[in-house]
Amino acid sequence: MKLVIATKNNNKVKEIREKFSDFMDLEIVSLLDFNNLPEVVEDGLTFEENALKKAREYCAFTGLTVLSDDSGIEIDALSGQPGVRSARYAGENASDDENNELVLAKLKKVPDEKRTARFICVIAVVQPVNIEYLTRGICEGRIIRDKSGTNGFGYDPIFFIPHLGKTMAELTLTEKNKISHRALALDKAEEILKKILETS
Ligand code: IMP
Repeated sequence: MKLVIATKNNNKVKEIREKFSDFMDLEIVSLLDFNNLPEVVEDGLTFEENALKKAREYCAFTGLTVLSDDSGIEIDALSGQPGVRSARYAGENASDDENNELVLAKLKKVPDEKRTARFICVIAVVQPVNIEYLTRGICEGRIIRDKSGTNGFGYDPIFFIPHLGKTMAELTLTEKNKISHRALALDKAEEILKKILETS
């Protein structure tokens, strides 16, 4: 079965490919393999709305089963922000560095015990036959005061995982794939894909 991963982010494609590498019957492609794609505006108020919107529109466009994810970080001291605005927190075309710097500046006076945060990932799987699935994964942690680590992307350098004693950016991809919000949501999606493959 051909599965379209609804992203142009090569880091995500890499993570998802590694996660599903044992899945022999699955040919994974991404939006990078298509031309003239419709633009999908991620204007939902929740991760679920955005993930479903992307999967539905790219499923209609490609005629293939689509897996889309919408993810971001919720920071308690910022009332759950950046949330669905994680990619563009410091502005429409903000870089990861700019987003991280803005978070660190806003949390400057926030004491350690109130710097709790979580990465959230929602995955939608939409089949051309109009069957839709949603899964959700959460990874709890804290925002540290200075960036640390160079792996990963996004908010990884400022997201500290207490039980590992490391930031997400200090983990290897294999380590991240064991505990990340996306990995947890993908574990659940894997079960769904197994069932789809069994019945197709
Ligand atoms: P997206 O909409 O799912 O592409 O994710 C939105 C934003 O959330 C990304 O641009 C990152 O800033 C942040 N994000 C999502 N997943 C991760 C992650 O695994 N590590 C760090 N940041 C992430």
